[in-house]
Amino acid sequence: MKSQSVPISKILKNYDLCEYCAGRLVSKLIGKPSSKSLGKKYLKKFGKSSNTKCYVCKNIFENLDYMLSNIFEKSSNLDFKTFNLGLILKNSFLERDDHIKSKFKIKGIENIKFGISIEMAKKISRRTKSTQIVNNPDLFIQANFKDESCIIRTKPIFVYGRYNKKIRKLPQKQMLCKSCNGIGCHNCNFKGLENIESIEGKISNLLIKKFEGNQVKINWIGGEDQSSLVLGNGRPFFAKILNPKKRNRILRKSLNLDAITLSELKKILIQPKGSIPFKSKVSVIVDTEKPISLTNLKKLDILENTKIHDPTKDKKILNKQIYQIRYKKLGKTSFRLDLFADGGIPIKFFIQNSDVTPNISELLGNRCQCRKIDFKNIIV
Ligand SMILES: [Zn+2]
Ligand SMILES: [Zn+2]
Repeated sequence: MKSQSVPISKILKNYDLCEYCAGRLVSKLIGKPSSKSLGKKYLKKFGKSSNTKCYVCKNIFENLDYMLSNIFEKSSNLDFKTFNLGLILKNSFLERDDHIKSKFKIKGIENIKFGISIEMAKKISRRTKSTQIVNNPDLFIQANFKDESCIIRTKPIFVYGRYNKKIRKLPQKQMLCKSCNGIGCHNCNFKGLENIESIEGKISNLLIKKFEGNQVKINWIGGEDQSSLVLGNGRPFFAKILNPKKRNRILRKSLNLDAITLSELKKILIQPKGSIPFKSKVSVIVDTEKPISLTNLKKLDILENTKIHDPTKDKKILNKQIYQIRYKKLGKTSFRLDLFADGGIPIKFFIQNSDVTPNISELLGNRCQCRKIDFKNIIV
């Protein structure tokens, strides 16, 4: 170890360093962890003042307060237990750091960026009583030393729930804001949506208010016409709340939002990826062009356990099928159709004249029109 006292003295005699950078650069050479006190000890040993301007960091460690107070102010109204920190630093800092390291052949020590990050994380942890973690922190802080700014993002919150729709004429999906196409702008109050009543709008508003997020993205398990009702257990959905300020708020299991009710609401850790297969129980009131007879309706029996083919859609639809079919004549030119089928089948086009095969209008030799399509139950 004694031979290594030569490079240490060389480093310290040739370069003015602060206690932090001195500690970091000599740490490996003397086999001790990097620390401010280690730097202090060695600066003293070689008769160097710690009041000079550090060659590597230009005394950035003494000037972290501005950035830190910015971070504390921006995070003061946020719920978080964990955070991570990313730094943007002028390249010249890293270049000077690398210059010393290569000149004195110092390997395997943290770089200046990491050194600053550790120091800041320590202070943030202490002040906000939170822990720094790498994977999936509640808070991500990006401190930009190029322009002394900082950006704070919070981890999204995921919510699962089901909705029941009790009135007609309410679309499921909200239209995207025409000004920003969903990105979020001043016109839409950064929600990314047009200001029209919809199930999506109602759920989004609730969750934005609850968790003080700025946007909600919903992954629906199927959809329905705006004139359809959703009964039974309701239609499941997954919501992602972006940039929530409050993550500790309690979400009630069920809620009444007038035209819709929500149930089974709960926070979940992650949203399932891809589409989720589901089956629906659907009740349809069908009007026919010509009078209909029971004998005629019996033709529909063959539809049980048949696969549906929709040439307008991709091949996935081939795997969708009707499991059960029940019908009841209601009048001369109307009947009720109860279906139990895979989700995602275009019910309307399965009944009315279209390219979907098999097709009920074609099978009955009678042009059918859907008056009402209601979802009795959705099974995931
Ligand atoms: Zn320094
Ligand atoms: Zn907008």
